[in-house]
Amino acid sequence: MTLALDPAVQELAGLVHAGRVVVLSGAGLSTESGIPDYRGPSGALRRHAPMTYQAFVGSPEARRRYWARSYLGWAQIAGARPNAGHVAVAQLQERGRLDGIITQNVDGLHQAAGARDVIELHGGLDAVVCLECGDREGRAPLGERLAAINDAFVAEVRRVNPDGDADVPDEQLDGFRLAGCRGCGSELLKPDVVFFGENVPRPRVDNCFALVESAACLLVLGSSLTVLSGFRFVRRAAALDVPVAIVNQGPTRGDELAALKVDAPLGEVLPALVR
Ligand SMILES: [Zn+2]
Repeated sequence: MTLALDPAVQELAGLVHAGRVVVLSGAGLSTESGIPDYRGPSGALRRHAPMTYQAFVGSPEARRRYWARSYLGWAQIAGARPNAGHVAVAQLQERGRLDGIITQNVDGLHQAAGARDVIELHGGLDAVVCLECGDREGRAPLGERLAAINDAFVAEVRRVNPDGDADVPDEQLDGFRLAGCRGCGSELLKPDVVFFGENVPRPRVDNCFALVESAACLLVLGSSLTVLSGFRFVRRAAALDVPVAIVNQGPTRGDELAALKVDAPLGEVLPALVR
């Protein structure tokens, strides 16, 4: 049976065609762009624990190592291109079926596919903020400044995580030099993403709740919903009897709350929905 004739996909097509859909996407949407998931079929678990906000702010050494790994991982994130799933989401938005797009991803691939007004729940890797003076700089120009002072730095990248953090043995990070803020010189530069141990800014959360509360359907794409920051929107939708549809490979924390579950590759399901 072809995917388009699958009863669950047909039911999903009916929901999406009716419109007022809010998308909540996760790392599984970007795996077909070559960005590994944390837990999905293509991703073994990362080798080191993710950076926490407290460690990042509290330790210059932790910060230097983070930036060394991020410097190495950036090429893969910056070089990733949107896949058929991202393109399909942008097309559904273009056709007026979507009321909003919320993403847990920090890779910018929804926008690269042409989607508008994307809410990046956990921020985006394309910008860097100085925690000292508030200056914002693009990730690309900072990358050039880092390259200029690290031309002798080499390391062996084992894998790159979806947050752009590369798995590299600590001892290979020793020679890396961190650049300072272009405004005040401080080395308290942080990617504009929400770290573990840090809260999503309240206005951003409220904005997402408002979208979910007025939606006709919450469509979860490629997320196991392990992290509460995304799962709470599924809970809210279910509590308000807004139907939740989930397209994900493998089980998710929201399965029991979902009206509909499709376990198939997003790069196949989403283009079928557009057709
Ligand atoms: Zn500064």
